[in-house]
Amino acid sequence: MPQAAAPPAGPKPLSAPARALARLGLVRDIDLALHLPLRYEDETRLAPIATLHDGVTGQVQGTVLECRVETRARRQLLVRIADDSGELMLRLLHFYPSMQKTLAPGALVRVRGELRAGFFGREMVHPEFRAVTPETPLPAGLTPVYPSTAQLPQAYLRKVIASALPRAPLDELLPGGSVPAGLPSLREAVTFLHHPPPGTDLDALEGHRHPAWQRLKFDELLAQQLAQAQARAERARLRAPPLRARPGGLVERLVAGLPQLLGGPLTGAQQRVVAEIAADLARPTPMHRLLQGDVGSGKTVVAALAAAAAIDAGWQCALMAPTEILAEQHFRKLVQWLQPQGIAIAWLTGSRKGRERREMLAAVADGRAGLVVGTHAVIQRDVAFARLGLAVVDEQHRFGVAQRLALREKLANGEEGKEGREGDDGTQGLEPHLLMMSATPIPRTLAMSHYADLDLSTIDELPPGRTPIVTKVFEDGRRAQVLARIRDEVAQGKQVYWVCPLVEESEHVDLQNATATHAELSALLPGAMVGLLHGRMAAAEKAAVMKLFTDGTMKLLVATTVIEVGVDVPNASLMVIEHAERFGLAQLHQLRGRVGRGAVASVCVLLYTAPLSPTGKARLKAMAETTDGFEIARRDLEIRGPGEFMGARQSGDALLRFADLAEDEPLLLHARATAARLLSAQPSVAQRQVDRWLGAKTEFLKA
Ligand code: ADP
Ligand code: MG
Repeated sequence: MPQAAAPPAGPKPLSAPARALARLGLVRDIDLALHLPLRYEDETRLAPIATLHDGVTGQVQGTVLECRVETRARRQLLVRIADDSGELMLRLLHFYPSMQKTLAPGALVRVRGELRAGFFGREMVHPEFRAVTPETPLPAGLTPVYPSTAQLPQAYLRKVIASALPRAPLDELLPGGSVPAGLPSLREAVTFLHHPPPGTDLDALEGHRHPAWQRLKFDELLAQQLAQAQARAERARLRAPPLRARPGGLVERLVAGLPQLLGGPLTGAQQRVVAEIAADLARPTPMHRLLQGDVGSGKTVVAALAAAAAIDAGWQCALMAPTEILAEQHFRKLVQWLQPQGIAIAWLTGSRKGRERREMLAAVADGRAGLVVGTHAVIQRDVAFARLGLAVVDEQHRFGVAQRLALREKLANGEEGKEGREGDDGTQGLEPHLLMMSATPIPRTLAMSHYADLDLSTIDELPPGRTPIVTKVFEDGRRAQVLARIRDEVAQGKQVYWVCPLVEESEHVDLQNATATHAELSALLPGAMVGLLHGRMAAAEKAAVMKLFTDGTMKLLVATTVIEVGVDVPNASLMVIEHAERFGLAQLHQLRGRVGRGAVASVCVLLYTAPLSPTGKARLKAMAETTDGFEIARRDLEIRGPGEFMGARQSGDALLRFADLAEDEPLLLHARATAARLLSAQPSVAQRQVDRWLGAKTEFLKA
C-alpha cells in the first residue's frame, strides 16, 4: 500500500532496551507485573569464606590481596581475596582493564559464585562481583532472576518491573469467599513473587506450589472458565432446527439393518452416545459436541445415525474428513448404508473438478443430496447448501485452526449464495448443529479447561470380538526376523502394513526410502501383490491402491504416513513401523489402530534405531505397555506438555501461562464452581476478570 508522506505520528521510537522488552511482550504495567521470576538468588547474607564447600554457590565479602594477569597456560586474571576466615581465588578468563581497577589490591569486594576446588586451590571462576564499602547494605529480600534475553540485562529488568508493580492494575475484583481459602490477594501475591522476603521456602516458590503462585493460577483458570462459559451461553442464544427422527423413519430402518451391516448390534457405548447426540439434535439450539472414541471404537456408524436423523427431519448433513482417502472410505461406507434407504449422497473433494463437480454442487444447492461427504472442499465458498442442518467433522484435531474457523464462519453466517434468494424457505436465522469426532482422547483436565465450551460424548468400549494388539519393540538389527514374520503372515492370507519413516526435512527422501523399501519387500514376496502409497501420488492413484488393499487383492502395503487416519481394513493383522522413534505418541497410536480391527490376532512391530532419546524411549515404552487411547493421551500430555498436545488449537497465545493442568486440578475444580456462581450473580465482575486475563485472546478459544 502506498504510504502518505505525512509527518511521522504516533509514539516516539523505542530505545533498545524498550524494544527488547516489547519483543518479550512486556509493554504495559500489567505485562511487567506478570513477568515472574524464574528463580531467586539469596544475596541477603554473607558467608565466611572458610564455610563454603566445593560446589556450593554463596556470597562472600573480602579484601583483595593480589591481582595479577597470568599468561603461562592461558591468559587470565587471578585475584586473591581474604576475609577473617580464609582466602579465595577468583579466576576471570575474559576481563577488561576496568575490572583490574575494581579488583586492585586493598579493594573491598562483594563476590557471588560457585566455589570449586581448582588448580589454584579454593576458587570461583567468573563470579559476579562489585566494589563495596563496609557500610554497603545487603538487600532485604531475595533477588529475582527473570526470564530474559541477551539485550535485556537483569538489573534493567528488575528496575522497570519494580517501578511498574505499584502502578499495575491488580486491585481485587473477586468478591469475598470466591477465592480458595488461605490465598493472598492478587496484589499481595504478585508483589510477593517479585520480592519474597528472606527465609521464604524457595522450593515451594520455584515449584509454583506457594500460595502466592496458587492465587495467580486460580485467577487465570477462573478467567478461562468464565470465557468458556460465556461462549456456551452465547451459543445457547442461537437457534437451530430441531432434528427429530420420525417414527418408522430412516433412523429406525437403519438401526434395524445394522447388525447385518456391521456384523453385530451397536455396543452399549455406541447406543449411549447416539442417544446423547439425538437429544442434542432435537433441541432448537445448535449442538456443539465432541465425540471421542479410541481408534476402531466405531464412530462412523454413530455419525451415520446422526446424519440419518437430520435427513429424516428434512435437512441436509455435511461430513468432513481431513484426507481424501478417508473421505472416500466414508463415502463408500455411507453409500452402502444409506443409499438402499433412498438417500442421495454427494462427494466433494479437491480433486473433483469440472462437470462432475458442478452436478454435485447443484444437487447440494437444491437439496437433492441429503448427505455431502468430502474433505474441507465441503466448506469452500462455492458450496451452497439448501438446508444444512448438521455438520460432522471427523478427526477434527487434524484440521487446522484456519479450517475450523472457516467452518464456524460458514455455519454462523449461513451459506453464501443464499443471500438475495426470494422468500423465507424456513432456514433463515438458523444455524446447523455441529458434531466433531476425534480418536485422540482429551485428558480429563484438558477437557475441563480448554474444551470446557464443548459437550463431550465418549465411546469407552470397543466392539466385541477384537483380539488385543500385541506390540513389540525391536532394534532395527532384527529386521530379518521381522521380514520372516511378514512372509508367514502373507502365506496365511493376512495383510500387512509397512509404514516408512518420517523424514521431516524432505519429502523427497521420504519417497526414496519408501520406494527402496517397496522394492525390497516385493523381492521378498514373489507372487504377492505389494503396493506403494505416498503423499505425492494423485488422489485417483491413491484411491486405486487403497481399493486393491481394501478388497484383499494386495497383500502388503508400503506407505508413508498418508494411511494414518481412519483407514479400515479388518483383515490387516501386522503393522511394521520403521524408525518408530521419529513419530509422536498420538501418531503411533493412530497408526497402530489400523490393525486389530477384526477378529484376527494382530501385531504391531515398532522398529527403532539406537540410540534413543529419553522422550523417544518414553514413547515406545508407552506403546509397548498399553493400547488404551486414554492412557496414551495421558502419557503424551506428560511427555510433551499441554502446549504441544493441543497442537494448533491454542497455539501459544491462549495457553495457560501459570496454571499447570497436570498439577492444578484442585484449583481448576474450584475455578469451575466459582465461574458458574460469578456468572449468574455478578456478570460484570466476570467480564472484567475475563478482560483482564484474556483480553483479545478470547476469540481464539472459540476455534
Ligand atoms: P473409528 O471409531 O476408528 O472411526 P470405525 O467407525 O472405522 O472406527 O469402526 C471400526 C470398525 O468396527 C469398522 O469395521 C466398523 O464397521 C466396525 N464396527 C463398528 N461398530 C461395530 C459394532 N457395534 N459391532 C461390530 N463391529 C462394529
Ligand atoms: Mg474413523
